[in-house]
Order: sequence, then C-alpha cells, then structure tokens
Amino acid sequence: DQGLGGWLARRRLRSPDKAALLHGEDGRLTYKELADATERAAAVLASQGVSRGDRVAYLGENSPGFIIALFATVQLGAVFVPINTRLAPPEVAHILRDSAASLLVHDVEFDERLAAVAAEHALPPSLPTTDGDGRPGFPSLMRDAAPGLPGVRVAPADPAAIVYTSGTTGRPKGAILTHQNLTFVSLNCIIDYDVTSHDVALMISPLFHVASLGMGALPVLLQGGTLVLEKGFEPGAALRQIQRHRVTMLSGVPTTYMMMADHPDWATTDLSSLDKLTCGGSAVPTRILTAYEERGLAFAQGYGMTETAPGGTSVPPAMSREKQGSVGLPQFFLDVRVADEDGRTLPAGEVGEVQVSGPNVFAGYLNLPEATAAAFTADGWFRSGDLGYVDADGYLFISGRSKDMIISGGENIYPAEVENLLADVPGVAAAAVIGVPDDRWGEVPWAVVTVAPGAAVDTTTVAAFLDGKLARYKIPKRVVVVDELPRTASGKVLKAELRERFAA
Ligand code: ATP
Ligand code: MG
Repeated sequence: DQGLGGWLARRRLRSPDKAALLHGEDGRLTYKELADATERAAAVLASQGVSRGDRVAYLGENSPGFIIALFATVQLGAVFVPINTRLAPPEVAHILRDSAASLLVHDVEFDERLAAVAAEHALPPSLPTTDGDGRPGFPSLMRDAAPGLPGVRVAPADPAAIVYTSGTTGRPKGAILTHQNLTFVSLNCIIDYDVTSHDVALMISPLFHVASLGMGALPVLLQGGTLVLEKGFEPGAALRQIQRHRVTMLSGVPTTYMMMADHPDWATTDLSSLDKLTCGGSAVPTRILTAYEERGLAFAQGYGMTETAPGGTSVPPAMSREKQGSVGLPQFFLDVRVADEDGRTLPAGEVGEVQVSGPNVFAGYLNLPEATAAAFTADGWFRSGDLGYVDADGYLFISGRSKDMIISGGENIYPAEVENLLADVPGVAAAAVIGVPDDRWGEVPWAVVTVAPGAAVDTTTVAAFLDGKLARYKIPKRVVVVDELPRTASGKVLKAELRERFAA
C-alpha cells in the first residue's frame, strides 16, 4: 500500500486522458500528466535528500505545483507541511522551527516574506515553484527527472501531513494527519456530498486550509473529477471560471462565498452548472444563505476541525434547507457525540461538548504530548472544545467554543445564538459576543460589531431589535462599534483579544 501516494498512479490507469487540473488561462493537466509530474517531482525531492519521515514545508498559493508537491512528498513517505500564506514572519518561523522542515518549497512571490522569516529562524534549503533569477526551480529540475513511483510503502497510520490549527484559542498547534485520516475524510465527502468523476470543482479557498484540501481537492482527485486552480482568489475571476468551465462544486468558507455574492458580476454570471456548495469553518451568516438561495443554490454546511482532517458533520445536500442552521449529521465513517463532563452522551436538546471518534481523527499534536493527552477523553474520543446539541433527528447544532461561553447570573449564554440574531440587525456587518466581568452578574454579554457605512447601530437599537427574540439576560448590555474585528489568518474572530480589550 502506498497510501495517498498511489492514488494518481491508479487514476492514470483508469482515466489517463481525463482532465485532472485546469489552471490559469488555458493550462490543463490530464491524470496521466499529473501522475507523471508527481513522480518526477518525487525524484527531484529525493535528489534534494528528502526521505521517509522528513518534513517538506510548502508556502504557496493554489496552483498545480501545490498538488504536485503534496503527492510527491507522500510518495516518498515524507510529510507535507502546508503553510498559510497570510501568516506573519514570526508565525511562519514558528511552523518551520516546530516542524523541523528539511526542505521548503515556495512561490517566489514570498521571497521577501521569507527574508524576514530568516531573521527569526534559519531557513531550511528551499526550492522555488517556478524557474527564474538564475535559480533552477521545480519545473526545470522535473524536466530532467524520470517518472516512476519511488516504491516506498507506507502504513495507514504513517503521517502524511502536519497541518497547523488556526490559532484562534492560542498558538497554532501542528496536527499530525495520517494517510488513513486523509483517505477517510475524502471517502466521507464522496459519500456525503455525492462527489463523482463528473464533478468540476473550483478551489475558491486556499489549498493550505485542511478543509479545502481534505473536503475539496482530495475527494475530487480520488474520484477522477477535475480541479480548477487559480493563484490567489479574486471573486470576479472565480465567477468567470464557474461559467467558463461549467463548475459543479465549490468548497469554501463564508467569506469567499460572500465576496462572490457581493461582486458586480454576480447577477449576470451563469451559475446553472453549480450543484454542490460546501461551506464550513464557521457558521454561514443568513445574508449569504439568502443571496445564494435567490439564485436557487443551497449550502451543505459542514463542521470540523484541523484535528479531524477536518471531517466531522455535514448536512446532506437534500436536507440543507430543512435543516438550515444545523451543521448536520456525523459523516459516514465517523461518530460524533455530545457529552457531559463524565463522558456520558446527552439527550437531544442538551448542550455539551462535541466529541469525535473515527478513522479521520489525528495522531496527535507535534511536540505537544500534554496537549495531545488533554485532547482525548478517557475512552478515546477527541474533545473538540466546542459546545453543541443534537436535535431529535440527530442533527448537530454548534453553540460556540467552551472557552467563549458566558455565564451570567448562573445562566449560560452561547455567543453563537446571539451572534446569529445580531447578523440580522439592519446595518450590522459582523458581530462577536463576548463575556465582560460584572460585579453583580459575574459576567454580562457585550457585542462588538462592525457596521455598514453610514449605519447607526448602538446599544439601544440593538436591544430594541432583540427584544422578544431573546431572553433578557442574553441581550448584549453594551454594543461597541469597531472599524474591524481582530481575526486569525483564516478569518476567525480572536475573542480572547476582544475580551482583553474590553475586560476593564
Ligand atoms: P485553534 O485550535 O488553534 O484555537 P481553531 O480551532 O480555530 O484554532 P481550526 O481547526 O481551523 O482551528 O478550526 C476548527 C474550529 O472551527 C472548530 O473547533 C469550531 O470551533 C469552528 N468551526 C468549524 N466549523 C464550524 C461551523 N460550521 N460552525 C461553527 N463553528 C465552526
Ligand atoms: Mg481548535
């Protein structure tokens, strides 16, 4: 068994001439060409000294080079470490140091950033994804290499990738994902979203996000479908590609979907080919759901985390309207439970911690044995740190992170519930609800919001809007308008930072 590394060779036998990747103006790689390219790339990596267990870091935008470097790395039994291109130099340095990467493959666009990283941490030997500047890059080295699988055999439990968490609750942790993890997350997607060889998926989210990789690119390649890749995301270009390539599938996060719906070309773009929109990472605001519904499109929302590669729950497409607001059912090959402190599964409607068990659950955090031990219950379930409940049909609803839960006068307030309603307040663009210390109640909820230009939003207007829709104690005691919410590189609100700022 060659794990992930063998996928493309098997595809080459089955559908050699099928388009695997479309890129740029008219770039096209068939499965045969892609399989050959990954094997040549593996030979290049091997000639640079990469062997089993070594870590290969990758800093780059969506491009065939990303997919080729990933498969080449795992074919050698080495471990792929994708780096978020939006991270600042010290954050990149942390990942290179922590993962002890022995090679860094990168787009030349990041040369300057890497020079700044080098000031913090000595860079490993690096290989640019393009030729130029007299430096031989991947393409020219690959031309001289011969295809052929390296013949390294891996076990399902061998690591294939180390993906860093978003760092919403602390410093990003390196989640060790095995060949089995990535295989099962792909199978789950294929089953639950009905991914077929006919699918054409436009990658609107960066491949360095585990959701884009595990729930977008990998399932499509496993089934022999087609990926459309573009360097960087630009909503107008994405809309053009949807129409041009008759794209059937998109997987992304709320922000990318919103940017497309807000683009001037949205109304005139032919979207009739689309039939699978998957979205995860955070709750999908009502405004986005409505914009897509007006075009006859429904979202299959999903919930997961880096540690689960990132499978978790998803809403079967046919149920996405009926179960709007829910993140769905446990994916096919995994179990999800809502448990109390003692690991007892709670009945429907009761809020507890969401826990996951299954073949997609990671092998642990790199270099963090204590955090790894703390992440599992005594009976082996992964503790997501999120709170939620299931309804009578077993559909999961997320109430927020346990660290963000507010306790006011002995009553629990789940920020997500309040934030969902705040999103409907006229003029509110984005909202985060945090607990602020209070002498009388212990904590009280405050809302920190950004508003549309010219909108008048304050504590009184918000309270008036929420009156009758929410219990009194859940209505924010104060609404603070800010220019921007502090966010992680993947767009999640950093609530700890807000708490610090307003805890006074
Ligand atoms: P860190 O673990 O470093 O603090 P993080 O948890 O944000 O960062 P990720 O693994 O990228 O890192 O994100 C997983 C988390 O994102 C989940 O635990 C959950 O809190 C949140 N999340 C994912 N999908 C959804 C969703 N559909 N609705 C609400 N929250 C979601
Ligand atoms: Mg997390």
